[in-house]
Amino acid sequence: MSKRQSLVAANWKMNGTLASMKPLVEAIKAGLESCDAEVAICAPYIYLAELSQSLAGTALRTGAQNVSEHEAGAYTGEISTGMLADFNCHYVIVGHSERRSLYGESDELVAEKFARVQAATMVPILCIGELLDEREAGITETVVARQLDAVIERVGIDAFSNAVIAYEPVWAIGTGKTATKEQAQEVHAFIRQRLAGQNSTIAEAVRVLYGGSVKADNANDLFSMTDVDGGLIGGASLKAEDFLAICQATR
Ligand code: PEP
Repeated sequence: MSKRQSLVAANWKMNGTLASMKPLVEAIKAGLESCDAEVAICAPYIYLAELSQSLAGTALRTGAQNVSEHEAGAYTGEISTGMLADFNCHYVIVGHSERRSLYGESDELVAEKFARVQAATMVPILCIGELLDEREAGITETVVARQLDAVIERVGIDAFSNAVIAYEPVWAIGTGKTATKEQAQEVHAFIRQRLAGQNSTIAEAVRVLYGGSVKADNANDLFSMTDVDGGLIGGASLKAEDFLAICQATR
């Protein structure tokens, strides 16, 4: 039995309005009373103030979906870790595949963001995962190892004692196509083994979430696997009923 506490993190992406966010957050708060998992909501920047206020005094964590790699300065339109800390952000997603593919974020840039988040005493949720053609070419492990190693090289293995990893096969994100529980377990075990090559205690303790079309009806299966410690949830986190059912599936 794993000693790692499950984590379920919502990634709202660029969805919702202030009007739709309020009832969603209220319903999640009300429905989570008997949940053993840690739960976080990663909201668009502009809603973080409202969100963190409404989560104050609850066990729910506030998270952001991205951050600048710079500390401060002439970076129009960017948001710094210091600004996120002002709004009680606990988690910050770095390296989401949409950032990597749509905004050209490299492994090195993601590693810089990871370092910046930790320097501001917040916890990075590092997303890694292969594209469909990479899986089909049989290089899933090579890709995941490269993404992971870039961060280890930048911050060192000890930094993973205060980080979360999300394995998100890109072909499963927002597609309705989920990895099987065996496919997920195989890559999660590989990730842990890769970290264990440098520090087995840290590898055993780090939480590795699965992300990619997790729904209420497949969450139980995925979360039952030894190395799957919860999920990063996109589409299904926008409906309280679905998201709550996924949180309950961590039991
Ligand atoms: C995500 O955005 O991280 C994600 C996993 O999305 P979805 O659950 O919609 O596939």
